[in-house]
Amino acid sequence: MSDTERIRVKDETPTNKGVKADGSVSLYEAREHIHPKSIHGRFQRLRDLTVWITMGIYLVGPWLRWEGGQAVLFDLPERQFHIFGVTFMPQDFILLAFTLMVAAFALFFVTVFAGRVWCGYVCPQTTWTRFFTWIESKLEGDRNARLKLDKAPWTPRKITRRGGKHVLWLALALLTGLTFVGYFSPISDLTFRLFQFELGGWEAFWIGFFTLATYGNAGWMREQVCIYMCPYARFQSVMFDRDTLIVSYDEDRGEPRHRGAKRDRDESEFGDCIDCGLCVQVCPTGIDIREGLQYECIHCAACIDACDSVMDHIGKPRGLIRYTTENALEGGQTNLLRPRLIGYGVALLVIIAALGGALWLRVPIELDVMRDRNQLYRTASDGSIENTYTLRVVNKSQNAQVYDLSYRGPEGLEWNGPQHVAVGPGEQASVAVTLGYDPFYDDLDTGTIWFGARARGNPKVKTEHESRFITPGR
Ligand code: SF4
Ligand code: SF4
Repeated sequence: MSDTERIRVKDETPTNKGVKADGSVSLYEAREHIHPKSIHGRFQRLRDLTVWITMGIYLVGPWLRWEGGQAVLFDLPERQFHIFGVTFMPQDFILLAFTLMVAAFALFFVTVFAGRVWCGYVCPQTTWTRFFTWIESKLEGDRNARLKLDKAPWTPRKITRRGGKHVLWLALALLTGLTFVGYFSPISDLTFRLFQFELGGWEAFWIGFFTLATYGNAGWMREQVCIYMCPYARFQSVMFDRDTLIVSYDEDRGEPRHRGAKRDRDESEFGDCIDCGLCVQVCPTGIDIREGLQYECIHCAACIDACDSVMDHIGKPRGLIRYTTENALEGGQTNLLRPRLIGYGVALLVIIAALGGALWLRVPIELDVMRDRNQLYRTASDGSIENTYTLRVVNKSQNAQVYDLSYRGPEGLEWNGPQHVAVGPGEQASVAVTLGYDPFYDDLDTGTIWFGARARGNPKVKTEHESRFITPGR
């Protein structure tokens, strides 16, 4: 039996829901709009903190300045990524690959350890939905008021409140779209041109696209994105085991549930769940956690805070719904150090070390050497043997730089061509260089030669590139 089979899951056996009066079955289920009730508690405070940090980093990120320029700018036309004074180019693709691997293994590690905490606390969909819901509750009230407003006729009051909500949603969505494009196009200039209605076609398209995507995803679709569109929801259960922290209802303690006071009956006959339904009302995906683990659950812990408040109210210990493991629920020990978790942890550390090493060893210069493809060597009019090369120097820093050029290899070669080259920040320059010798005085064989470039005034910034010096032979 697999680990996932041992975890109590909701019975998904098909029911007669969706069967029409004529006996035919509808393939589409109408969406029931979910209005989660606001709830306060320790996990919701933690979520508030994480979503504010996430949103804050996103919104402030492109406005940060570094050495006179935008601190984080992904300059696609120039194919350069500027991140806090460091310029990454397509040649640094390996770093991006390492970064993606770190992100993937971090997600695996966290999921095996603590389930879908990513979804509940820092996922952009959760973060933006939380802000959108907050705006909605400020204008339309909490769950009951919103449910009432849904059914109310379109009075001026309803139109004002609904209209105000959508205006604020669109404003936040526009800010999101503008910020996103601001990571790719200098944001101060972009913002100025937005208000002057002077945006370029692509900029206007992408700002519009992300504005509508944010408005639709966080305002209208909300939990539908998590339930139907997010692939993570589908494979998460494969990663869970009996020691993964998940939000669970303690069935042994809660059942049999009872509604209200049972003065005429022995309380010991009943569990602690008073069937108040608060855990369902606060759930942003509209599920009942008492039915077991469900893929819709984003581990936001709203039901924990709700149930804890109920337990406080009726004088019972907290934790009827809590973060726990399958083993702990069955009275066993939770095994933190298990092979799968250790494996992901070790892999994560190795990749982080590789990424750190690659960043540490990275020098902000690149040198490419291309031999003349038309001739292996050339005999000049004075009888000397020459090889021609094109040296391409890439300045991967954010400062203009002069590079001294040199070679290392056979002694006595005569250098014809520039011995230094000036390159602007994030730019590249090519120079043609000829190396030659007089076969009357020197007797050279074909061999390896190393070209070098060194930043003037900063000898640590240097690099070499291997090539061949080819002679007619003896
Ligand atoms: S909030 Fe707690 S007591 Fe109320 S229905 Fe849910 S599990 Fe039962
Ligand atoms: S069941 Fe609880 S933890 Fe899961 S989504 Fe609903 S409120 Fe959040």
